[in-house]
Amino acid sequence: MSKRILITGAAGFIGSHLCDRFVSEEFQVVGMDNLITGDLRNIEHLFPKKNFSFYHHDVSKFVHVPDQLDYILHFASPASPIDYLKMPIQTLKVGSLGTHNLLGLARVKKARILVASTSEVYGDPLVHPQNEEYWGHVNPVGPRGVYDEAKRFQEAITMAYHTYHGLETRIVRIFNTYGPRMRLNDGRVLPNFFYQALSGKDLTIYGDGSQTRSFCFVSDLVEGIYRLLFSNEINPVNLGNPDEITIRQFADEIIKLTGTSQKIIFEPLPKDDPKQRQPDITKAKKLLNWEPKIQRAEGLKITYDYFKKIM
Ligand code: UDP
Repeated sequence: MSKRILITGAAGFIGSHLCDRFVSEEFQVVGMDNLITGDLRNIEHLFPKKNFSFYHHDVSKFVHVPDQLDYILHFASPASPIDYLKMPIQTLKVGSLGTHNLLGLARVKKARILVASTSEVYGDPLVHPQNEEYWGHVNPVGPRGVYDEAKRFQEAITMAYHTYHGLETRIVRIFNTYGPRMRLNDGRVLPNFFYQALSGKDLTIYGDGSQTRSFCFVSDLVEGIYRLLFSNEINPVNLGNPDEITIRQFADEIIKLTGTSQKIIFEPLPKDDPKQRQPDITKAKKLLNWEPKIQRAEGLKITYDYFKKIM
């Protein structure tokens, strides 16, 4: 009999790509989402499939799924800074209460659970690049605190369920990821730049653009998550693309790719915006034999084609 997997945040950007992967690997996939930031259009092509079903539910409330479950992937959460600023309480609840509910469900079902953590657990990092041993530099009461602390709590309670109850757990720390199905208006730098280029607006750089990020294409991330789920690693594993770039250089790449004649304008840097971010993926390389394959030029082109189509 095929294995059954619950994916929360199924209608979201990363969640929907995970649904695709597990449906195509012939798992029985149960998607769940409360659709506050997810979009059913991301998974509507899966509805005719026999091995896909969907529950419209908020996992911060008690989660019930009938029948057996072998795996749970917890990917439900607002994940872009403007989303978690607009929905700070929901963000805290899904990372804490939601995780608690899913850990409880995993226990009852004797399922293995993988939770989506984030490079934000490192905050505005003082260690560069960031490896899994680094404890981070997080402001709990700053605007990003609602996301960062929810995810830090999530890691702590996941580890506690492993040590106390012997639950099979996995923790992935996801760095900046991009690709088709990102929301054009989610406020993050890449959709913003593409939206601006496509609608004849100037590109907004926050601060002086010297802050860095490292962008991973979504198919690479999904492959890493797949390998981590079936590995034996209990401790957190970074997944991301170490190819680091300043936001200023990134804007130039988008301008070149889109051929826009718009200019760059500078706006104030949001509070606690990390100055630098680059994953150290030594551990993932060794444990999972994984590294990203899609170069930024290729990934950006695929993503640009997607945004052109949906505009
Ligand atoms: N940013 C920017 N212009 C925008 C949106 C974001 O310069 O229109 C900057 C933002 O201040 C941050 C970086 O781009 O330094 C990445 O921001 P994003 O919201 O994508 O995610 P983060 O990595 O900060 O969570």
